[in-house]
Amino acid sequence: MQRVYLDYAATAPTDPEVIKAMEPYFFEKFGNASSLHSFGQEAKKALEDAREKVAAFLGAAAQEIIFTSGGTESDNFAVIGTAFARQAKGNHIVTSAIEHHAVSETVKFLEKKGFQVTVVGVDKDGLVDPADVKKAITDKTVLVSVMHANNEIGTIQPIAEIGRITREKGIYFHSDAVQTVGHVPVNVDELNVDLLSLSGHKFYGPKGVGVLYIRKGTRIERFLHGGDQEFGKRASTHNIPGIVGLAKAIELCREKMPEETRAQIKLRDKMIKEIPEKIPEVMLNGHPTQRLPNNVNFSIKYIEGESMLLNLDMVGIAASTGSACTSSSLEPSSVLLAIGRPHEIAHGSLRFTLGRWSKAKDVDYLLENLPPIVKKLRQMSPLYENKE
Ligand code: PLP
Repeated sequence: MQRVYLDYAATAPTDPEVIKAMEPYFFEKFGNASSLHSFGQEAKKALEDAREKVAAFLGAAAQEIIFTSGGTESDNFAVIGTAFARQAKGNHIVTSAIEHHAVSETVKFLEKKGFQVTVVGVDKDGLVDPADVKKAITDKTVLVSVMHANNEIGTIQPIAEIGRITREKGIYFHSDAVQTVGHVPVNVDELNVDLLSLSGHKFYGPKGVGVLYIRKGTRIERFLHGGDQEFGKRASTHNIPGIVGLAKAIELCREKMPEETRAQIKLRDKMIKEIPEKIPEVMLNGHPTQRLPNNVNFSIKYIEGESMLLNLDMVGIAASTGSACTSSSLEPSSVLLAIGRPHEIAHGSLRFTLGRWSKAKDVDYLLENLPPIVKKLRQMSPLYENKE
């Protein structure tokens, strides 16, 4: 059976060139970067070279790059670390209604610790209005956190504009760029951010390694206590193979991104055009143009995301759904609810995300297999039977 992977936003394969770059650091050059001997110094050199590469890619200075265990840790560190560091100034945080759980659950944790949180809504395309962020800011606000692009619906936010507002007011600005780094240009100065999270496995690097960019002068409380690694900001022995792999992945994205983006936009737009031509009563989720080059998300009325997912899996296609019927809660995606989709429509959503190895024939295979699956499921659906 043909196998087609259309779930790159969940995770991507590690590029073979990345694996090759990592390999020496498991056995030959296995040293601890904090050791003074030559084994340690070898590892330290690899660490600092990687830091330089990541910094150059983001338009940052090397000392502003902190290696972490991934996007979730970077988000937790940014939000909790700055909130705690600035507690004397205020206890108010502004965030958006479509953040990844790594941010939304973290601000909920801070609420339990006495912080106040304002959640700014989005429009029907999933866009945050910078004017709403401005209105939400009070003299107690210490942090604004708005993601660069949404992982479900792909909408890219006006981060630079929001950053201009926070800068004017002297408030820290964090952006979760886990879905954008390696896919669209990300420059910390152009985006006016003070903190930015990224994760290796979303751009063909290894899993379990990420970065938090922290602008020089930003006050932040350390998150992992212990040794003095990462300029005293994050303890734990460095994951040198992972860090080398992340940097190599970034280097490859620097070379390949323009061409990959063009190819993915072509395939993305083919799906956006042809899915509604082949399947009646579908709705595109997310902004029609201001969206990730690799993201397609549709609500397919009258049927459930899980059923479609399982049927697609039976023909070898891997996708994703925003609905969460298989988890303990029956709540559909909060992102889809935030853009105004009613519960039953939010439950019928499917996300297809493209990547480095996606081919035109993969999209053709999807376009051939999805319509009969939808037709079959609709025939069994009481919602479809009873529709107006
Ligand atoms: N933020 C966003 C927008 C994501 O899409 C993800 C992963 O899906 C994360 C954070 C968490 O990253 P990680 O898996 O590296 O912890």
